[in-house]
Amino acid sequence: MSQIKNIGVFTSGGDAPGMNAAIRAVVRTAIYYELNVTGIRRGYEGMINGEMVPMDRKSVSNIIQRGGTILKTARSDQFKTPEGRKLAYGQLKKHNIDALVGIGGDGTFTGAKIFGQEYDIPIVGLPGTIDNDLQGTDFTIGYDTAINTVIDAVDKIRDTAESHDRLFIVEVMGRDSGLIALRTGIAAGAEAILIPETKTNINALFDRLERGRKDKSSKIVMVAEAEEAGGAFEIAQQVKDKYPNYDTRVSILGHIQRGGRPSCMDRVLASRVGVAAVEALLGGHRNEMVGVVHNEITYTPFDSAIKHNTDINPNLLKIVEILSL
Ligand code: ATP
Repeated sequence: MSQIKNIGVFTSGGDAPGMNAAIRAVVRTAIYYELNVTGIRRGYEGMINGEMVPMDRKSVSNIIQRGGTILKTARSDQFKTPEGRKLAYGQLKKHNIDALVGIGGDGTFTGAKIFGQEYDIPIVGLPGTIDNDLQGTDFTIGYDTAINTVIDAVDKIRDTAESHDRLFIVEVMGRDSGLIALRTGIAAGAEAILIPETKTNINALFDRLERGRKDKSSKIVMVAEAEEAGGAFEIAQQVKDKYPNYDTRVSILGHIQRGGRPSCMDRVLASRVGVAAVEALLGGHRNEMVGVVHNEITYTPFDSAIKHNTDINPNLLKIVEILSL
């Protein structure tokens, strides 16, 4: 029999659409198994400050379709210190929280791993980040919605690019990862994709533009924000210097990529891993991230989950090259 009576749930790091669906799943599953569940507001920062709210089945009504996170999120420098984590543990004790479900990305799991080593508290993580850069899950919660937001925006940019015969450099999110740029570039029919994983140099982009059809009136180049050759403005300047005859413009999509109603895929993923997280805690799992690989629930130690996923499928890059003729 598990000793767990009260699960604390929190969201941390960058927000991602589908986090609310995950909170809902954790809360309702805990209630289903006759456990108490406490919402911890503002991630680790709120944990340190004791921002705890008891959750019941109604507190998560009507949120499955909402972007953002009702528990709010934060980045906490204090939690990176032993003193900060001591305060956090003291608050958990004070509120009788005896297990945690943390929803976030690699930073959140790095913190959880350290916390779980220092204090005797079972922690399970859910992959909540638009970046899709965690090992141990095919997709992260928020990624599907974010890439759909991007292609919706790029389709609109394509309309204006086509009307004015313009080349658009479109920058998308991904601080360390080009996975958003890669997929959306394929889906939006981009001429080229610049991502940090492939260490593209600017000459490769010039080659691509020169090999492309000369009569093509609009061109889209997708750039991940972490791309080595520089951000969209830097790349645009180099393109302008080389091809002064191109009407080159920049569009940085920015924070719209984080918002909006979660897609069906994200809601289902969040619901599945949310249920599995509570069951995993009851089954004795700790210090693991719950994910879905090949449609099966999987458990990956935090250490492995945070090993940055830089595997780019070379077939996807080849597809861009073939289809942008
Ligand atoms: P995303 O990638 O979507 O932004 P994330 O979870 O990686 O999400 P971060 O801001 O990197 O977001 O991390 C969230 C929080 O996790 C940090 O603000 C910090 O409180 C905690 N954290 C990160 N790294 C550590 C660490 N080395 N030790 C303790 N806590 C950490």
